[in-house]
Amino acid sequence: MFTGTNASPGITLGKALIVKHEELVIEKKDINSVDEELKRFDDAMEKSIEELNSVKEKALKDLGKEEAEIFEAHLMVLDDPELIKSTKDKITNENLNAEYAFKEIINQFITIFESMENEYMRERAADIKDVSDRVLRHLLGKTIIDLATLEEEVILIAHDLTPSDTATMNKDKVLGFLTNTGGRTSHTAIMARSLEVPAVVGLKNITEKVNNEDYIVFNGDSGEVIINPDEKTIEKYKKLKLNYEKMKKELESLKGKESISTDGRKVELAGNIGTPKDIDGLKNNDAEGVGLYRTEFLYMNRDNLPTEDEQYESYKKVLESMNPNPVVIRTLDVGGDKNLPYLEFENEMNPFLGYRAIRLCLDKKDIFITQLRALLRASNHGNLRIMFPMISSLEELLEAKKVLEGVKADLNNEGIEYSKDIEVGMMIEVPSAAIISDILAKHVDFFSIGTNDLIQYTTAVDRMNEKISYLYRPFNPAVLRLIKMVIYNGHKENIWVGMCGEMAGDQKLIPILLGMGLDEFSMSPISILSARKLIRSLKYEDAKEIANKVVNIGTAKEIEEYMEKVLD
Ligand code: PEP
Ligand code: MG
Repeated sequence: MFTGTNASPGITLGKALIVKHEELVIEKKDINSVDEELKRFDDAMEKSIEELNSVKEKALKDLGKEEAEIFEAHLMVLDDPELIKSTKDKITNENLNAEYAFKEIINQFITIFESMENEYMRERAADIKDVSDRVLRHLLGKTIIDLATLEEEVILIAHDLTPSDTATMNKDKVLGFLTNTGGRTSHTAIMARSLEVPAVVGLKNITEKVNNEDYIVFNGDSGEVIINPDEKTIEKYKKLKLNYEKMKKELESLKGKESISTDGRKVELAGNIGTPKDIDGLKNNDAEGVGLYRTEFLYMNRDNLPTEDEQYESYKKVLESMNPNPVVIRTLDVGGDKNLPYLEFENEMNPFLGYRAIRLCLDKKDIFITQLRALLRASNHGNLRIMFPMISSLEELLEAKKVLEGVKADLNNEGIEYSKDIEVGMMIEVPSAAIISDILAKHVDFFSIGTNDLIQYTTAVDRMNEKISYLYRPFNPAVLRLIKMVIYNGHKENIWVGMCGEMAGDQKLIPILLGMGLDEFSMSPISILSARKLIRSLKYEDAKEIANKVVNIGTAKEIEEYMEKVLD
């Protein structure tokens, strides 16, 4: 048995499919005739184009324009006359086999792109490599795994899954993911929860332990993975799966019910989303609002900034479909691990401590203003709350608010309507903001605690680094004390305090957060109903005692063990 990080709940049994981008071996070979090689090349190109067209159509239909654009870029590479002509010339002039000639030409293209100044163009080298592998596989007669066109139900085993893998995969056929890398807040984990696919991540070398077609069982709640289990274990997991499904059914009965403790403390259970498509998941799980809309996905997987109108359409869609429930839309949070190639970020020693989120927006005001205009215009269609990420000082908050006021004045002058009831809040995800939260609270309508970053900045533990992931602990008493202080300071100024980091959906932490007085819990939609079930079983007065007790325990381990006992 292997144990990794429990990234997305659910019990899964099924066959493994390894998603590995294996190195292709290309050899120079004697050929029968140049014409034959030219034909092989044409055929491989044609098959690749056909395949890409059908993958693109499927992505367009199932996933939307943004995701389909990746394949459009691949098709453009195959349509390049220079690439085709150079390969054919090489085959003809040097009597070469098609794959060898093509690989040589592709390598030249990649070298040129990789040496370009512009980061966007450098990133295109990866597209060229991706698409050329497709052509080479056809020439070598190797099968290609397209996650968009999976025929059989499988458990995907990968080193890591890229955003384009998760964006384009056929969700109906994917029973789960297991990956070598990642933690609970990594892209793969967040995607798995939003797709409602069970997943275990951070398994270190699972790609080496598993072979294609191996039978796997795993538990996305405990992080346990077993390869080729015996009959007894299979039966046990089948039972666990049935129980899990039964429990999910029972949770259905909580739809439409209030999220309220036994002694009447009512809270709001909202969902985190990345794109308007995630609304379905919110509705299925009866979210009472959106507590975090991560708008950066609108800016990713493309080669230019989204226009005001494009943004307006996305925000409007979310606001309209949730109306009258509130929707917290976070302004652009890029930098750190999320780069926008077309913005040409400079390489930084510490990107998470660098040029990111509100810092970038206050520097590149045109980008910020475009987003704020789109947000204000969309506010006519629902209950909008605007939130600024990564605020680390009062100056930053005041400056962000000033830009917002400027945009409002512009719209007034232009006679463009917007709602007058928009709440403006900020994330508390930097310790300096938590420490002066009593002061900051005087200038906002709400706080939302971003614990994914707050943990990393408070404990000086990179949230992406597996070597030290044992130190990345939500139960760390220093983190809990900061949270308690932020909620207290917010309430003193009569503002509501929410949480949109992953801690908000964690069963072992919910009693503590409830007891500290958290007003809004925003989480992956998949966790909402079980959170409601738990809150409806708790007494607020008891939760307060629990909260007071844990902040005086010295170690994360003891706090976690104590909470396990409380929930037993
Ligand atoms: C957080 O930091 O807790 C958060 C919600 O933001 P993100 O995970 O997008 O950094
Ligand atoms: Mg954050």
